[in-house]
Order: sequence, then structure tokens, then C-alpha cells
Amino acid sequence: GQSAKPLGVALVGLGKYSTGQLAPALQQTKLCKLAGIVTGTPAKAAQWRQQYQLPEKNIYSYQTFDRIVDNPDIDIVYIVLPVGLHAEYVERAARAGKHVICEKPMAPTAEECRRMIAAMQKAGKKFSIGYRLHFEPHHQEMMRLGQQQVLGPIKSLVADNGFRFNNDTPWRVDKELAGGGPLMDMGIYCVQGVVYTKGQLPVSVTASFAPKTDPVLFKEVEAGVNWQMQFADGTVAECRTSYAENLNSRLRANTAQGFMELQPAFGYGGIQGRTSQGAMNLPNVPQQARQMDDFAACILQNKPTRVPGEMGLRDVQLLEAIYRAAETGRKVST
Ligand code: NDP
Repeated sequence: GQSAKPLGVALVGLGKYSTGQLAPALQQTKLCKLAGIVTGTPAKAAQWRQQYQLPEKNIYSYQTFDRIVDNPDIDIVYIVLPVGLHAEYVERAARAGKHVICEKPMAPTAEECRRMIAAMQKAGKKFSIGYRLHFEPHHQEMMRLGQQQVLGPIKSLVADNGFRFNNDTPWRVDKELAGGGPLMDMGIYCVQGVVYTKGQLPVSVTASFAPKTDPVLFKEVEAGVNWQMQFADGTVAECRTSYAENLNSRLRANTAQGFMELQPAFGYGGIQGRTSQGAMNLPNVPQQARQMDDFAACILQNKPTRVPGEMGLRDVQLLEAIYRAAETGRKVST
């Protein structure tokens, strides 16, 4: 049976994604709810406390965060900080004995991802990555069509995701805080989409960086990447990401007998899908509410999450291989 009391979630880092998406989604969830916040900005603490009726004792700064260990109202800590800070806060949440959701990409390096997984294993708590599209009907349909070869085996794939970055969140072009540029932030959706549609990992990657159109903005990170993922059966995925231009948000697979495609593919809503047989006619759903309720259900029923830390590590390893391929101009085995 289901516990009557929803699990308490504390959001760590009250930026655009927490404010615009996760906190509103936590008003729609059934198995979990917003119970606390961790912020470095006192004005946000005051605003959120009032807006969401949070008790003072459930409001933390980065300095007081570790005291969350003593707070039974908080079951789940959700890390929504710049990527370079994910590892530190996941490890601190693990030491506090909390279940953890960490936003994508998991961390700048595979080495940090391994440390995070080890810390969560030691804590004996559940750990997932904020891969919201695994809970989205059009993406679930791409997984089904591709993995079950409904329209025949996949012969090639295309994935594009990128936008013209206006420096509204400067950490995104800071190598330390972001781990990299658009490949880490947006390209990861292409990697994810290709892998779950094909239902296999690539055996190698090739890549090249786009020109640095704005050398000041892109001082530390790439402006864009074009890359290919090669599969054991000869299938190739052609992918593209950018911070210098708005790209189509697109995921497409060509099969022996037809195709399936999402466009727009990767947004919080408005996803549209079609196959060579016609429109998918699937609903758009509140992705983040589904994602967080699924994680709460995994905790309550002690079942594994579909989007574990190991998947986050796997993707960061692929991103590292793509960077290496772009830097060397060589094909890199994965
Ligand atoms: P923002 O810059 O809007 O928010 C980040 C927040 O982190 C800040 O507002 C701040 O909150 C806190 N913070 C703590 N230290 C720093 C620092 N040194 N520099 C900047 N911020 C700091 O970023 P987003 O909300 O867009 O992204 C946050 C995370 O969520 C990233 O990991 C990103 O990849 C992920 N994300 C995932 C999405 C998805 O669809 N799954 C979509 C968008 C983002 P405070 O003032 O409270 O301390």
C-alpha cells in the first residue's frame, strides 16, 4: 500500500529551474511535496517561505545545509545547482542520509560521478538524475518503437538541441561551474534520446567543434558541437548542439520500413511526434511532477529508479568521449 503522507522534498538552489518548473510541479505531485529549501540568497528564502508556507526550520543556507540530517520533514534532497557543484552537494546529502535527485548533467567528470554513486551506495539511499523525458509519453513511444523495432530496425538517427545563449546564467559558460558548454547542457538530451531510441550504447564517436562566433562569451567553453555516434550494427546518429544559434529541437530515427520523429522534441511541453504511419496523437503531461512522483514511488515501494546515478555516469562518459573526439579530430571508442 501507499503511505498516506507525501514524502518531503528540499530543493537546493533556487534558480530558474527550481522557481519556474520544480516548485510549481511539487504542487501537483501526489507522493511528494515541497517541504524545504536550501539557498544562498536570503531574499529568496523569505519569498519562498511565504509563498509556499514553509516552516523556518526547513530553510537552510549552504552553510547550515548539513543540519538537514536532523530534519525528519525532509526525505528527498533535489540538487538544482550549477553542474560543478553537484558532486559536493550530493555527497553532503548522502552523509545526511537523504534520498537524492541530482539535475543533469550529473557532474563535469566521470570521476566525480563515481564518487557520487559510491557516497549514495554507502548511505543506502535512492539516487536518481533529473531525466524528465523518461516520464514523457512521446519519448516513451520513441523508446518502444525503437527498442521493439516496431517499424523495423533503426538505420540512422538525427538529434539536434541548442539555443542562442544570452548569458542570463553566466555559470553556463564558466568551465568550472558548467563542466563544458552546450554539449553538457543541451547535447546531453541528444545523447539520451539516441541511446534510448536505439536501445544500445554506441561503440565509437566522432566530433568537431563549431566556430567560436563570440570569443568573449565562449572564452572557456565551446560554442557548439557536431558529432556522430556509431553503433555496432553500423547505425550512425548525427547530432548537433549549440549556444550560438537556435537549433531545431529534434529527435528522429529512420528505420528499414519508415521513420519516427519528435519535433519539437525536448521542451517541458509542446512535444509533437509523428511516424511514417502518421501523427502520434499523444498527450503532453506535467513531466517534472511525473518524474518526482515516480522517484517517491521507488522509495515507498523500494524499487529501482529508471534514471539512476549509473545512467548519469554513463552519459558523462559519452560526453567526455565526444569532447575527446572533437579535441583530437579522431574517432574515439566508447
Ligand atoms: P540558475 O542559474 O537559474 O540557478 C542556479 C542556482 O544555484 C542559483 O540561482 C543559486 O540559487 C544557486 N547557486 C549556488 N551557487 C551558485 C553559483 N556559484 N553560481 C550560480 N548559482 C549558484 O540555473 P538553472 O536553474 O537553469 O540550472 C540549475 C541546474 O538545473 C543545472 O544543473 C541545470 O543543468 C539543471 N537544469 C535542468 C533542466 C531540466 O530540464 N532537467 C532545465 C534547466 C536546468 P540560490 O540563490 O538559491 O543560492
